[in-house]
Amino acid sequence: MAYISLKAVHKTYPNGYCALKNINLNIEAGQFIAVLGPSGAGKSTLLRAMNALDPATDGEITIDGVTLNKKNYRKIRAHVGMVFQQFNLVDRLNVMTNVLVGRLAERSWLSSLFYLFPKMDYQIAEAALREVDLLDKAWSRADKLSGGQQQRVGIARALAQQPKLILADEPIASLDPKASEEVLKLLRKICSEKGITIIINLHQVEYAKQYADRIIALNAGWLVFDGSPEQLTKAKQAEIYGTTIEEIHHEPELVLAYA
Ligand code: ADP
Repeated sequence: MAYISLKAVHKTYPNGYCALKNINLNIEAGQFIAVLGPSGAGKSTLLRAMNALDPATDGEITIDGVTLNKKNYRKIRAHVGMVFQQFNLVDRLNVMTNVLVGRLAERSWLSSLFYLFPKMDYQIAEAALREVDLLDKAWSRADKLSGGQQQRVGIARALAQQPKLILADEPIASLDPKASEEVLKLLRKICSEKGITIIINLHQVEYAKQYADRIIALNAGWLVFDGSPEQLTKAKQAEIYGTTIEEIHHEPELVLAYA
């Protein structure tokens, strides 16, 4: 059985807009999957449906043998790490506390209110910070760090959840190219060494081809590509981004510009 399976998944927002249309997917554990597609294609909607932040309105999503339903949304969220474009750190708190936030789902509301964590959580957070190479910044305020470092804290927070799956929603969209590469290399390492499945929304086709085991693409809510990086030819890219093959041929940067 696939680690993640989506069967006939639809997402219709309250205003009636259908952002995901009949998505069928099977994902094996331990893969690094890039999700491509133009802005508004439904990439973020797909990730939010997978961790039940904004559940699908039709169809079935199963993760690790558990089919998502209203009763288990909280439990699913607790064990799926999420990495965001804007990092979503608490600026005034130190790095360690931000990483400990990844443990909150395991703790009572009272301990979460006062950020009280047992020693075990500190050990888990410390290991996560070591993994992202930021242990030396543990007691710095989060907003004193560079963008790339803040995103690595975001990844450490996800790791502190001890997840088998990390969903990263355009995690490099706010970073410069050097920091982007660092974050992608780190996510790739986490996937390869820890066997954590990573699904990442990206704008850059070249990064997807460089880092992913498998690429899927959406356009207007439809799944329009599902294959290996090698299978994502220039012609396929043109289909995904709605440009013509000639444009791609004459202007290789165009795909990036459209993203
Ligand atoms: P992407 O991540 O590929 O840029 P999104 O998943 O954010 O795309 O959005 C897909 C479509 O759904 C877009 O047309 C967007 O405007 C629409 N959408 C997103 N969130 C909502 C919402 N809360 N209500 C209505 N429409 C939404």
